[in-house]
Amino acid sequence: MTMWIARTKTELQKHLASLPRPIVLVPTMGALHPGHSSLIDLARKHAGSEGSVLVSIFVNPIQFDKSTDLENYPRTEDEDLNICQSHGADGVFLPEPSEMYFKDLSITVTENLLSEHLCGATRPGHFDGVCTVVLKLFNLTRCDAAVFGEKDFQQLAIIQRMVRDLDLQVQIVPHATLRESDGLAMSSRNRRLTPEQRADAPRIRKALLTASSKPSAEEILSTACEIIEASTLTKIDYLTLVDAETLQPTDKITHSTILACAVFYGDVRLIDHIKTSD
Ligand code: AMP
Repeated sequence: MTMWIARTKTELQKHLASLPRPIVLVPTMGALHPGHSSLIDLARKHAGSEGSVLVSIFVNPIQFDKSTDLENYPRTEDEDLNICQSHGADGVFLPEPSEMYFKDLSITVTENLLSEHLCGATRPGHFDGVCTVVLKLFNLTRCDAAVFGEKDFQQLAIIQRMVRDLDLQVQIVPHATLRESDGLAMSSRNRRLTPEQRADAPRIRKALLTASSKPSAEEILSTACEIIEASTLTKIDYLTLVDAETLQPTDKITHSTILACAVFYGDVRLIDHIKTSD
């Protein structure tokens, strides 16, 4: 069957009318890479051959705290649609911002605990934007399940909390992080790195791997910091140890402690994390 594309909510509703359940959604911002395609593959596994896989491609303006980051976000629509088609998506929802948001939008979703630190601290309003768009996508697609990558582990934890706290009837299916062969976590933003920055960027993963085996919080943080800052190209946005459940900073190293970082290469911000027991 050929894959359909809906650019408006009305078109989407027409397609949904005849869409077999379960409906499994893969929300993305496009510029798809193999990390995204593996999410689509997992969605297909979850939906089964009878069910339906939907991909949404929407660069959500309200989750960007910097307008330059929004403007520079890579957009590769034709390639994205080919990837969705070749991975067996049934349909793609590809709205414009004006289709998603009224000019006088006045109700948004706010998470108050898990978003306090990490990306939530350095990107004010980011997770309000994420929660709001994800809730709208859940409502619009009436999906039974949705696949999210563990690469954005704070986002995944917050979405799971939103589902719990707002009684959403959507099963959240996590997917492990896909990496390049040199260890760099795949990201749409990687394509904005210069060749020199790209060659340097695997140090983020190396720093986390080397640091995570150290015995104390102090040594973990100083080791990771040293390796990342040994490059003249990097600027650390944050480097923090948090508890995996609460996402609150901790200096106790247990099986559920996560070392997480965001690192700038120029204006390109990359994130990664590791369990300290890995
Ligand atoms: P994005 O388009 O960056 O908003 O990402 C859309 C979805 O793909 C999110 O659930 C991300 O966590 C997930 N994702 C992005 N990069 C990767 C990766 N390298 N491995 C697995 N999932 C990923």
